[in-house]
Amino acid sequence: MSTGTSATGSRADVGNSAASGDRLAMFGGVRAVPRELPGTNWPVVTDEDRAAVLAALDGPLVSDTDGETPVSQLEERWARRCGAQYCVATCNGTAALALSLSALGIGPGDEVIVPALSMIASGLTPMHNMAIPVFADIDPVTFNLDPAAVREVITPRTAAILPVHLHGQPADMDGIGALAGRHGLAVVEDGAQAQGATHHGRVIGSIGDVTAFSLQFTKNLPTCGEGGLLTTNNPEVAMKARMSRQFGEVIEAGRPRDYISHRLGWNAKLSSVQAAFTLSQLDRFDSYAKQRHANVTAFLDRLRALPGILVPAAVPGTEHAWYMLRFRLDPDAAGLDGVRPARFRAAVHRLLRAEGVPVSRYQVKTLPDQQVFTERVGFGAGYPWTAAAPGPAADCPVARAVIDDSLTLQKRHLNPQAGPALERYAGGFEKVWRHLDSAARLAGADR
Ligand SMILES: *Cc1c(COP(=O)(O)O)cnc(C)c1O
Repeated sequence: MSTGTSATGSRADVGNSAASGDRLAMFGGVRAVPRELPGTNWPVVTDEDRAAVLAALDGPLVSDTDGETPVSQLEERWARRCGAQYCVATCNGTAALALSLSALGIGPGDEVIVPALSMIASGLTPMHNMAIPVFADIDPVTFNLDPAAVREVITPRTAAILPVHLHGQPADMDGIGALAGRHGLAVVEDGAQAQGATHHGRVIGSIGDVTAFSLQFTKNLPTCGEGGLLTTNNPEVAMKARMSRQFGEVIEAGRPRDYISHRLGWNAKLSSVQAAFTLSQLDRFDSYAKQRHANVTAFLDRLRALPGILVPAAVPGTEHAWYMLRFRLDPDAAGLDGVRPARFRAAVHRLLRAEGVPVSRYQVKTLPDQQVFTERVGFGAGYPWTAAAPGPAADCPVARAVIDDSLTLQKRHLNPQAGPALERYAGGFEKVWRHLDSAARLAGADR
């Protein structure tokens, strides 16, 4: 435990530049954030959730059952919550994306435009349909697809644009929708991180041709494991997705299963247990979102006072779902001339972690830099890429810069009770910012 008296050695001296009671935890000071903080578990599991799961064990266990089940109830409620006509539940968000593309008829030789910064499933799922992902750069502030970059990679083979509402911030659906309209392209939204977000008054899930959601347990609307949902207003797309999740079969109310497969199918059904848990969570979804918004807003307001942090803010006309908070770090704006952004980010990362602020990196490569795409690891014989002439390869410098210079806060702020924890985290940031000279020295040591 730090006594405030100066320790010997140059490492300690580095952290001893401000008042000694304020010494950085990395150099022996007291952590800004205590080890055990209530209100930082996610998902929040209540007795209602437990009872819902137990009750599901006594009912039909899968989604291909005739009649009302937790799965059909969840589909109905989520469609209504999104303002969409149809919802199809799936075994995970990746399957929801893959089935969305499949139901739209996207296949071999088609190109799908995907943002260069996302979770890997956004880039893999076109390939699951033998289509080719073509990456476009992102906006440096919203981290979402930049319509101007999309325009540059549209070819006669482009079949769809796949915007991701990254971290809960809706993408520029006006710009993307205009391009899609002009070129006759489908829009498949990856809403895995954006449950409940809105864009000009419309809920994510009601805008594009199809929207895929994930219920994976870290997401804003979680299940107790893995699950997914897709929404659409197109009855044919809904029907095809429903068939494809069940081996290509048609399951109809009042008719026994006939075991006839009509189209390429998977087994991508959601279980009733997963659906029952999510249905129970859905009862608290809106109140959680409201509390989270208040917590996050207060937290970000404090960080905004610190120079050199680009703090996320909802784009005007949108409601952010605050799934993840990403901070870009700018050494020049922080007054640290000549320090490279990636070095500054690494130094701040170490100092914040030492203080107990659970920042982390989310994605360490752009999607086009992932080996599966650089080495074209597909189905063999170069597929899916050999199904068409090589598409355009855009450089994605913004996505690369964002990965280099940013840190994220994940999951722990999602708990509606996380307000006090976030206050501690803000205190940790403020403390590190009082010692920016230490960050500069750490960054400079291996510049
Ligand atoms: C989580 C996630 C997915 C995949 O969802 P799973 O349910 O994990 O398969 C896809 N895209 C994004 C942006 C995600 O965050």
